[in-house]
Amino acid sequence: MHSTVTPISSDQSTLEIGPQVDNLRNAFCSGRTKNKTWRIQQLQQLKRMLIEQEGTLLAALKSDLGKSDQEGWVSEVGFVISDINHTLKHLNKWVKPRKVPTPLVTQLGTSYQLPEPLGTTLIIGAWNYPLMLVLSPLVAAIAAGNCAVVKPSELSEQTSTVLAELIPQYLDNDCVLVVQGGVAETTELLKQKFDYIFYTGGAGVAKIVMHAAAEHLTPVTLELGGKNPCIVDSNTNLDVSASRIVWSKWMNAGQTCVCPDYVLVEKTFVDKFVTALKEKIELFYSKNPANSDDYGHIVNSRHFERLVEYLEGQHVAYGGDSNAASQYIGPTVVVGPDEQSLIMQEEIFGPILAIIPVDNIDDAITFINKRPKPLALYVYTNDKGFEQKVLEQTSAGNVGVNDGMMFMANSNLPFGGVGSSGIGQYHGKSGFDSFSHLKSVMKRSFLFDIPLRYPPFNRFKLNILKKLL
Ligand code: NAD
Repeated sequence: MHSTVTPISSDQSTLEIGPQVDNLRNAFCSGRTKNKTWRIQQLQQLKRMLIEQEGTLLAALKSDLGKSDQEGWVSEVGFVISDINHTLKHLNKWVKPRKVPTPLVTQLGTSYQLPEPLGTTLIIGAWNYPLMLVLSPLVAAIAAGNCAVVKPSELSEQTSTVLAELIPQYLDNDCVLVVQGGVAETTELLKQKFDYIFYTGGAGVAKIVMHAAAEHLTPVTLELGGKNPCIVDSNTNLDVSASRIVWSKWMNAGQTCVCPDYVLVEKTFVDKFVTALKEKIELFYSKNPANSDDYGHIVNSRHFERLVEYLEGQHVAYGGDSNAASQYIGPTVVVGPDEQSLIMQEEIFGPILAIIPVDNIDDAITFINKRPKPLALYVYTNDKGFEQKVLEQTSAGNVGVNDGMMFMANSNLPFGGVGSSGIGQYHGKSGFDSFSHLKSVMKRSFLFDIPLRYPPFNRFKLNILKKLL
């Protein structure tokens, strides 16, 4: 069942934001979010929302980005359900004190880290996976016992509106608040004192977020993007590699922070590789993806125009067709773009794949290392030595060997960037830990109060301490 949604009110009062955040802070101080039963119950309620409202949520994702029901379920609704299931399964273990060894000098004693919630947290999401990017951090926030303000992206307006309608119906309204809006509302939110800010989006706004956080000495996690390289060795399983590259590149019409941005291949392998890509594109989306229910559209006209501009003067080896009215750009392959062109200077974040021919596959490593550290890096090869070389000689937030984006499907693998692609990690236990302070505790016995550390000091005491420490 798909329900209709009301648009975001443009005059949503920013004046209410401060008092609303104060209410959340009071709820946190009451201690109820620390209760494990509350956390479990809220996570179950969130799961119930995702199951009961699946149709409404998928309709909103289709409206915002043209996502098919399968894609919307796998990468958003189902992704968060799986995250909740994993969290519920392991929460008992995660909340427990984590014992660490106690050295001789501090015996008799025990030492451990006690996870405690950070407090009132802010989650700011981006538009490309508008549901998953706010709800997955929310799962971690609740699991760790925090209150949270959720600020979905205003560019994915329908999903934002649906979340603002549904979350209050399912979750504890004193502890979880959805604030809709854009720059004005986020600016007002950032003036408030939060105990932690979890931001997903571009690097420009990340600087604004970090600057605002610095005012209150608030810790941040920044989930950013960048240009993700993909190396395809001629010694690979070309058929499977092409399927996986096409799947990971053109899901959500290339508007994925971890999709391949450009592919490095040896000059002599380019034609064979491009032919393999074309075959898979047509197999997955037909010869006319504009008519395929499984192919998405560009989020808005600004991004549509940005992407069309990227194609100016490029050698388009496949695709390149677009339709402004439906914000459609077909799967497009560009070969040999100039390094100074926009397509190689900016994150593409759309359905254009750039192919960079290199003389020798080892040159791919040099090419990658001349650029900012990416969020994701991919290598397709049968050569274990080359795989090892890439892993050892490059840096990236996450690496996929012989597949694209599948590391996202493993809740046991922390996800996050490095350098300009981000700070901090989440998913599974790493998300729980990011939204927690791991309080260090040492408990000492009253027995054996050996006076070596107490004054008056003498050489004898010092000599023994030198041996013990
Ligand atoms: P966006 O425009 O949706 O902005 C992100 C958030 O910042 C939104 O909630 C928006 O309201 C807020 N915002 C925008 N301008 C602001 C301002 N001046 N002050 C305060 N808040 C403001 O998303 P975007 O920035 O276009 O996102 C795309 C980028 O995000 C890409 O670089 C992509 O790679 C990256 N991304 C990263 C991840 C990840 O998990 N690492 C996931 C998705 C997207």
